[in-house]
Amino acid sequence: MDTIQQTIQPQGSHFIDGAHVEDKAGREILCRYAATGEVVATLHSATPAVIEQALASAKRAQAEWAALPPVARGRVLRRVADILRDRNEALSQLETIDTGKPIQETRVADASSGADALEFFGGIAASLTGETMHFGGAGGDFVYTIREPLGLCVGIGAWNYPTQIACWKAAPALACGNAMVFKPSEVTPLCALKLAEIFVEAGAPKGLFNVVNGYGDVGAALVTDARVDKVSLTGSVPTGRKVYAAAAGNIRHVTMELGGKSPLVIFDDADLENAVSAAINANFYSTGQICSNGTRVFVQEAMVKPFTDRLVERTRNARIGDPLDPETTIGPMITDDQRQKVLNYVRIGQQEGAQLLLGGTCPDGPGYWIEPTIFGGVTDGMTIAREEIFGPVLSILSFSDEAEVTARANATEFGLAAGVFTADMKRAHRMVAALEAGTCWINEYNLTPVEAPFGGVKLSGVGRENSRAALEHYSQVKSVYVATGDVEAPF
Ligand code: NDP
Repeated sequence: MDTIQQTIQPQGSHFIDGAHVEDKAGREILCRYAATGEVVATLHSATPAVIEQALASAKRAQAEWAALPPVARGRVLRRVADILRDRNEALSQLETIDTGKPIQETRVADASSGADALEFFGGIAASLTGETMHFGGAGGDFVYTIREPLGLCVGIGAWNYPTQIACWKAAPALACGNAMVFKPSEVTPLCALKLAEIFVEAGAPKGLFNVVNGYGDVGAALVTDARVDKVSLTGSVPTGRKVYAAAAGNIRHVTMELGGKSPLVIFDDADLENAVSAAINANFYSTGQICSNGTRVFVQEAMVKPFTDRLVERTRNARIGDPLDPETTIGPMITDDQRQKVLNYVRIGQQEGAQLLLGGTCPDGPGYWIEPTIFGGVTDGMTIAREEIFGPVLSILSFSDEAEVTARANATEFGLAAGVFTADMKRAHRMVAALEAGTCWINEYNLTPVEAPFGGVKLSGVGRENSRAALEHYSQVKSVYVATGDVEAPF
């Protein structure tokens, strides 16, 4: 770990105007490797002076960036994507150390997913156009519209996907001509710093993508600053309420990517192995720390026993261990606090009568480990079926028919995602039409290609990330009326 520490400790806690910045007056942030609990880096929360520097430099850079031809902006973003791909191995190791997620995952889901976003938005930066509306035929008055950047955007990230979240926010924002100040979660402060370095290396103006690390108060200071035109948060619903309310003070744009309690519905005609694979991916990938996870697994009555038996059997094969070992499939939780929160839900599940079929305990030794946990016999009113746990806890609920399961799947305040497994495609399309969720999968789960919009309904959020839809959330339209004749007036 000594060597890790030497390579991991960043040159400064923040990256502003093209350089690492340090201000030790800020509260200490101890960055721990979740697999061992060891401190691998020490950073300092941004002071008001650091926040001011970040906002002022981003404001300057935005003017320079917006003045570039869109095709030149796109080229820079695509260069960032190329560097991310070239350095995927080193960035994946950093992501693993920052989050504890297994290297098997980070090699395919983090820098590479970020690169997809930068490539996608870099590719369409030059295709952002307005419209023309003609009145009175050729030679008559007309209106043209200009799609303009919003200005200065603030991105605030959760801890589960620090590289991906930063890229999913920065790529569309910058493609539209905005600048971004990004604040990572205080428990995963390392990856976004590396991304900021890469932006400068790829030719982005200094200050275009600044990173300030810090606790929630730093995020709060950023979102209330009058220079900020847009706030994009990935986080929990309680934080979302605060950030949304703060942005409302200045009537600012927001994107809110918040929590979920998503249903995964498995009919008895579904392919058993595929359904089990999906349930595993939907609950245990990233040790269950994924917002869109299908944690309420509704299984049709005749399928409950074969599904449960096979799920338990296959989950016993999960390999918990060193996240840097390519064979490891389950890493630790991000922090001990998060693990204790999950263990508390496991206790509540048992107290409320759910059947603990597997896991629920912590392996011995240091680090924040918890075994993949499966509950059977869960009913809708139980706490574990209602609240977001954000850990590796899967609940099996049985159902009898389509109408019943649709109503039960929708009986939640959340609406991030949903999945349906069935061989009957008419039923699959009928169900997804009725499900209250921003993203639905048919016979798959948790795949989020950059080409597809991603975001929630109900308490799970506002706005969409990825796809062309994200461009609407990082730009605004100006209407220009052009008169071609004389001006009429009543007197
Ligand atoms: P939190 O809501 O605790 O924190 C999110 C971010 O907001 C952190 O950077 C946090 O800083 C910051 N923050 C906290 N308070 C404020 C404030 N008052 N003003 C501005 N910023 C603030 O989320 P977690 O990090 O615990 O992440 C887990 C949550 O994120 C889950 O609910 C999960 O579902 C959701 N999520 C949603 C996704 C989506 O796309 N819909 C994807 C991934 C996760 P600090 O950490 O320093 O307190």
